[in-house]
Amino acid sequence: MEKIKNYIGGEFADPTSGRYLNNYNPSRGAVYSLVADSTADDINRATQAAQSAQSAWGRLAAEDRAQYLRRLSDEIMNHVDELARAEAIDNGKPIAMARELDIPRSAKNFRFFADAVTQFHGEFFNDTHSINTVVYDPLGVVGVISPWNLPLYLLTWKIAPALAMGNTVVAKPSEITPYTAFRLAQIADKIGLPAGVLNIVHGAGAQAGQALVEHPDIKAISFTGSTATGRVIAKLAAPQFKKYSLEMGGKNPNIIFADCDFDLALKTTLRSTFSNQGQICLCGSRILIEKSLYEKFRDALVDRANSLRLGDPLDESTEQGSVVSEAHMNKVLGYVERARHDGGVILCGGERARLSGEIANGYYIRPTLIEGLSPECSVNQDEIFGPVATLIPFENECEAVAIANSTRYGLSASVWSQDVSRCDRVANALQAGVVWVNSWMVRDLRTPFGGVKESGVGREGGDYGLRFFSDIKTISRPAAGGNR
Ligand code: NAD
Repeated sequence: MEKIKNYIGGEFADPTSGRYLNNYNPSRGAVYSLVADSTADDINRATQAAQSAQSAWGRLAAEDRAQYLRRLSDEIMNHVDELARAEAIDNGKPIAMARELDIPRSAKNFRFFADAVTQFHGEFFNDTHSINTVVYDPLGVVGVISPWNLPLYLLTWKIAPALAMGNTVVAKPSEITPYTAFRLAQIADKIGLPAGVLNIVHGAGAQAGQALVEHPDIKAISFTGSTATGRVIAKLAAPQFKKYSLEMGGKNPNIIFADCDFDLALKTTLRSTFSNQGQICLCGSRILIEKSLYEKFRDALVDRANSLRLGDPLDESTEQGSVVSEAHMNKVLGYVERARHDGGVILCGGERARLSGEIANGYYIRPTLIEGLSPECSVNQDEIFGPVATLIPFENECEAVAIANSTRYGLSASVWSQDVSRCDRVANALQAGVVWVNSWMVRDLRTPFGGVKESGVGREGGDYGLRFFSDIKTISRPAAGGNR
C-alpha cells in the first residue's frame, strides 16, 4: 500500500516512530494508503531544516520568491486532472468540484501571493519633526495547520503568503486527507524549491499538530479547523507569545426575505447549503425565511434537495459525494437524531444512503432539511458541518437579525432581498466576518477573510495575510530642522 511520507529538508522520510496511520477512501469506506504518524521528533527535524533554509530564502528578492510560487502554481495546473481525482478519492468530494474549485484555487493561491508580494511595500510617515519608515520582515519559521474539507486549497492558502514574505514553513495537513499535501511536496521537489523552505509533516493533531504549536522555534501558527482545536492552540501558543491566526467553525445564516429574487435565492441556497456535502465552513446551515414566503420556498428547496445526484465522487455527474469519514458521518447523523428527539420534522434525507456496487460501504448521507426546531436548540446552535440544514421562519427584519446573531459563531452570512437599503441595514447588523448580499462565495482574494466571536481570530487574504506572516518594525529619525 502506498505510504504518504514526510517531506523534510528536501527529502521524503519515514516518521522516526516508523508508524503509519490508515488513510481511508470515504466513498468506498476502505483503507487505500498509509500516512506517517509523526511525533515531536519529526516536527523538530522539520523545524531545524526550515531554520537552516530561512536566511537564504528570506534574503531572496520578493520577485525571485514569486518566481518559485508561480512555478508551483503552474505545476499544480499541469496536474489538475490527476490532483482533482486524488482529492475526490481522499475526501469523497465530487471530482467535478475538485477540478473546478479545489485545484484551480490551490494554483491561484500561489499565483495570487506571488503577484501580491511583488506589489507589497512598507510604509512611510513623514511630518515636520520626524521621518518614520515601517518595514515588514519575515518572522522566521512558521507553522501551518489545515483541515480536511478543502485539503489542498486551504493548505496552499496558508503556505503561499508565508513563503512569499520570506518565511520557511512546517506544514501539518489534516491526517484525514493527507494525499494532495504529499503531492504538493513532490511538486515542490520537482520545481526545485530549495530544500527546507517547505516541510510537510503528517500525523495526528494531538501529536504532530500539538508539537508544532509547542515548538519554541515556530514563530507563528496559522490554523484552520474546528473551534475546539482552535481553543487548544490558543492556550498552547499564548504563554510563548506566539502569533496566531485562527479560522474556525461557523453556523452561518442564509436570510431570505419575501422580496428576494426567488429563483436566484433558491438556486444559490441549494448550492450554499449542500456544496461539498455541506462541508465548507461558509455553507449556510440555518435558512431563515420570511413567514409570507416560507412554505413556497421550503417546498421548492426540498424538491431541489431531493433531486441532487448522490453517488460515486469519481462519476462526473455526481453532485453529492460521501462525507469525509465514518466518525464524521455518525456525528452528523447524531444531530439528525437529536433533531427528531427535539420535535424537528425531517423534510428530506435524514439517513445514511446505502448505495450499491463498489461504493456500497461508503459514508453517504442524503441531503437533509429540517423544520420545526427552536433557534436555541443544539441542532441550531452547534456546527454540524454536513449535508444538514434547518429552516426557520421569521416575522420581520429585527427578528431575523436576532436569530442570525444568536449563536456563538460569526463566520459568514447571506442576505436575500431586492431592497438595497434593507440589505445594507441587515448586513451591518449581522455579527459575521463576511456577509454576502444576493450571492454566496463571491471572493476577491485581496479582501480580509475571517470570523468574529468563536469563528476566528485574525484575518487572511491579500495584505492581511502578508502582514500576519511578518514582523513589523518602525524606524524613526528626526526630520531636518525637527526636534532632536
Ligand atoms: P480539526 O480542528 O479537527 O482539525 C484541523 C487540523 O488541526 C488538523 O490538521 C488536525 O490534525 C489539527 N489538530 C487537531 N488537534 C490538534 C491539536 N491539539 N494541536 C494542533 N493541531 C491539532 O478540524 P477538521 O475536523 O479537520 O475541520 C473541520 C473544521 O474546520 C470545521 O469546524 C470547519 O468549520 C472548520 N473550517 C473553518 C474554515 C474557516 O476558514 N473558518 C475553513 C474550513 C474549515
